[in-house]
Amino acid sequence: MISKVLTAGVRGVDGFAIEVEADIAAGMPTMAVVGLPDTEVKEAKDRVVAALRNSGFDFPSKRITVNLSPAEVKKSGTGFDLPIALSILAASGQLSKKALEKLKDHIFIGELGLDGSLRSCAGVLPMLGAAGKKTAVIPPANSGEAALAQILAIAPLNLKELAEYLDGVTDLAQIGKIEFKSEEFEYFLDFNEVKSQPLAKRALEIAAAGGHNILMIGLPGTGKSMLAKRFPSILPSLTHEEALEITKIYSVANMLGKDKFAYSRPFRDPHHTISDVALAGGGATPKPGEISLSHNGILFLDEFAEFGRAALEVLREPMETGSVSIARARESVSFPARFTLIAAMNPCPCGNHGHPHKQCTCTPVMINRYRSKISGPLLDRIDLTVNLNPVEFKDWEKKAEGENSKEIRARVTKAREIQKERFKNSKTKVNAFMTTAEIKKFCPLPEGGGPVLEAAMRKLGLSARSLDKILKTARTIADLEGSKDISKLHIMEVLQYRPLDRKGVADV
Ligand SMILES: [Zn+2]
Repeated sequence: MISKVLTAGVRGVDGFAIEVEADIAAGMPTMAVVGLPDTEVKEAKDRVVAALRNSGFDFPSKRITVNLSPAEVKKSGTGFDLPIALSILAASGQLSKKALEKLKDHIFIGELGLDGSLRSCAGVLPMLGAAGKKTAVIPPANSGEAALAQILAIAPLNLKELAEYLDGVTDLAQIGKIEFKSEEFEYFLDFNEVKSQPLAKRALEIAAAGGHNILMIGLPGTGKSMLAKRFPSILPSLTHEEALEITKIYSVANMLGKDKFAYSRPFRDPHHTISDVALAGGGATPKPGEISLSHNGILFLDEFAEFGRAALEVLREPMETGSVSIARARESVSFPARFTLIAAMNPCPCGNHGHPHKQCTCTPVMINRYRSKISGPLLDRIDLTVNLNPVEFKDWEKKAEGENSKEIRARVTKAREIQKERFKNSKTKVNAFMTTAEIKKFCPLPEGGGPVLEAAMRKLGLSARSLDKILKTARTIADLEGSKDISKLHIMEVLQYRPLDRKGVADV
């Protein structure tokens, strides 16, 4: 007898339906799994044998063939244990007629423990996308993902409980659906804990409001990473859609842990020794890298100039397109990677350039080489550069703490709402990603703006490309003010966060 059980697989962050067929025939007792399984799927065999026996079922001593179709797509992960076990139960006549009927309305995902218990596995949320109108049967530990996906799902504790449910002996409660509300989430770190650095704080507010990437240049100990770590607290709240996207990525990476789903914007800060593969994602079965793990959140690269050239080049594609593709011999998968880049670096290799009391030991050639490690195309995607000065004792001593994150976030959220309206008929979501045509349409030069820009171009040696960046950023400053038009003052403010230019690096 041949049986069919439905399950799902994952490609990138998308699920697709898979049919598990089992055939049991007379012959030498063996079990073969075919249909491009990887080693993890092949190991299902031993777990399934033990799980069935320890749940009071027979494991047939016959020739068993399990086929995963479509056969041409690679299958990976441990979620096939459950559907394989059920296909064997069905094919060996150990399920009642009623159970066989009911089987058809469900899809099954889950790893099996040797005792028959259902254990969590990676990629459940994307797989649920393949469930359609069927009820998904998933491990209890993955129930948060089903709740977020808002689909019909049940989570039996073990194989025995599932068999009783299929037989109609017991009923299992549906997993409740949840509507994600990130307003409930409070950040531990607040902007008012950072003393001084008003210019950097303002630049970060602009970055948050318009989705601009930012580079902070400053002496060690000026609070670059302290500021970066507080950046998520001034970003707009996560939407349900964004939370789903993030959770899918973490689900595939098997990094959801106890949280069950993503409830805050990711903040990733890989070390500068990271490889290009760890940054971009990869592996035999492609897994998301740091740039995808920071999707809808922040990628903080401290010691920016110390990152390997290959690693830095990896950033270019996602910064242009919002996703990264990983090519493999059989298939190419793509992961979402839309993040805000916060880069930080010292002003020079020794870190003392511009320090009021310490001596810089670097030669101009050394400083130039250090800064030119950041390539032109990468700089083109960084709209804001801000220099941080050492904190003076009088500032450090100050009691006044300045604005808290909530106040700043309120302004940022308002500016984002203006952009939502502006780009409602466009693929663009935030000012930083405006096309040339959109810059022309939404960023007309104010009266007297031309001469200001012209003078800046001459004095600072800015390229035409930099002018686009200046206009995009000025648009964001105008939005923060709720102003319909860009003014000369807005442009003059942007010139303080003078973009590093392709042609050379700005003086510090
Ligand atoms: Zn130096």
